[in-house]
Order: sequence, then structure tokens, then C-alpha cells
Amino acid sequence: MMPNIRRDDLSGAAIRGLLAEHLHSMTLHSPPESIHALDVEALRRPEVTFWSAWDGEELLGCGALMELDPAHGEIKSMRTATPHLRRGVARSMLEHIIAEARRRGYRRLSLETGSAAAFDPARRLYASYGFEYCGPFADYVLDPYSVFMTKALEPALARGGCLCGAVGFSAAMPAKWVAHCHCTRCQRAHGAAFVTWAGVEASVARIDDPEGLLHWHAGADGGERAFCTRCGSPMFFRSTRWPGELHIARALFRDPVTPAPQVHAFHDTRVEWIQLGDALPRRSAQEILK
Ligand SMILES: [Zn+2]
Ligand SMILES: [Zn+2]
Repeated sequence: MMPNIRRDDLSGAAIRGLLAEHLHSMTLHSPPESIHALDVEALRRPEVTFWSAWDGEELLGCGALMELDPAHGEIKSMRTATPHLRRGVARSMLEHIIAEARRRGYRRLSLETGSAAAFDPARRLYASYGFEYCGPFADYVLDPYSVFMTKALEPALARGGCLCGAVGFSAAMPAKWVAHCHCTRCQRAHGAAFVTWAGVEASVARIDDPEGLLHWHAGADGGERAFCTRCGSPMFFRSTRWPGELHIARALFRDPVTPAPQVHAFHDTRVEWIQLGDALPRRSAQEILK
């Protein structure tokens, strides 16, 4: 069975019941001051994402991910409904949360759980996914009723390549920024109304060009643009204006790229023959180059 995992606003009776059961069961194994489970109100805070797992109309379990800082997440509220224990619900939820943490670019995922025997299965599950015991993190303090576990996350790599496939690349996600560029140089170099770029640190990007087909063309503005000399795909941009950065044409990625586009850059030189319907901020050349 593959549970259907979805975002949950905690308004349903079933999920509130499961959460109440979760909070109550904590009181059986830990004194009140050692209970760190979040209640409904806390789970609705903006830094928390809460999911429930379903098999049709049947609630199987829940789990949550709390952002501690932009690189560190905490797993909360892992609970399987009693009739569905030992059916892989927690495993599915944990995989879902780990995937989401990677997608967000977290480099570390941590959790607090109980030290009592009742928490053995949970601790074994986390250990089987590479979580290791650690000291208290965030605002936690050492507590005989608590154990802390943590897992370092490898950055997600997004790959892509040119039209003919001869020149490939990969870059660690998330990108530093993703922006639509409406500058006239991008328009002409790509033959397009605008170009969406993912800006990454060059140190986390790799260009694979085994046949030496990539050609860097130096522009009058101090920028250099690289294209595949076999198929002509315009691929990369770099400039002394943004030292250490490699800009990769967003459309050439095959894998998911994060974040989503954030801004329209050089909006003052946009073409007049396309209407932009989004609410992203618009920045003029003057605002960018100042
Ligand atoms: Zn090519
Ligand atoms: Zn541009």
C-alpha cells in the first residue's frame, strides 16, 4: 500500500483525533516538562508544514516538518494510527519529509523522540534512514526522557544539457537565485523575449564537455556567454560583475530546479509583444546595476 500523503490544515475531526491520541500517549512515557509534541495551534505556525497520510477515506498517520533555519529542519508529529501500525506508514511519511527537506535545500534534518522503550521502533526506523544520535539542538536541553537524532543531507543535484546533449552540466540545488532576465543582450543571444537564469556558485556547478564543444563568447559588457558549437544552445553566462557565480539557462535543466523564479530583472527593456501575468517583483537595469 502506498499511502496518499497530503498537506493538512488540521481542521478535520479524524486528524484532530489522531493528534489528541499522539499528545496523550506522550504523557504515558514522559513527564510533562519532557514532552515537546506540538499541539494544533503550534502546528499551524508558518514554519511548520503538516501532512496526513490516507488510504482512501482511512487516516493512516501524520507527520510534520519545521524549519529551524534555512538549512536545518526538524521532524515533528510522526504518528501512525493504531489500526495501521507496522504497514510502512511511518516509513512512507519519513521518506516524504526527507524528500521535502532536500527539495528545500536543508543540509540537516533533526528530531527529538522519547528515550523510553515505547519509542524503540521509532528510533530504529530513524536509524535505518541514517539518523545518528546527537546532542540537543535548537532550543532543546539535555533530558533523560529525550533522545536527539540528526542526519546530514546531501544537496540535491539538478542536471541538464544542451539541445544535442553533447554538453551537460549539474548544479547543487537550491540555486542562489532564479530570475527572468529581460536585458537586450539576453534577448539577442537567445533569440527570445526573455531568458530565465538559475544563478549558482560556480563551485557547486560542474560542466561536462568531453568533446570540447563549449565556446565562451566575450561580450562588450564584461560578460561571457557560452554556447554549444554543435547545436547552438546558449547555455551559460558569467561576468566579473557577479564573481564566482555561474548563470545557467533555466530551460536546459532536466531535473527540478529550486527556487521558483523570483523576479523580473531588467524589466525596463522588456519586449512589448508579450504580457506578463505574474505578481513577481520587477527590477529595472538601474536598480540592478546601481
Ligand atoms: Zn549541443
Ligand atoms: Zn540578461
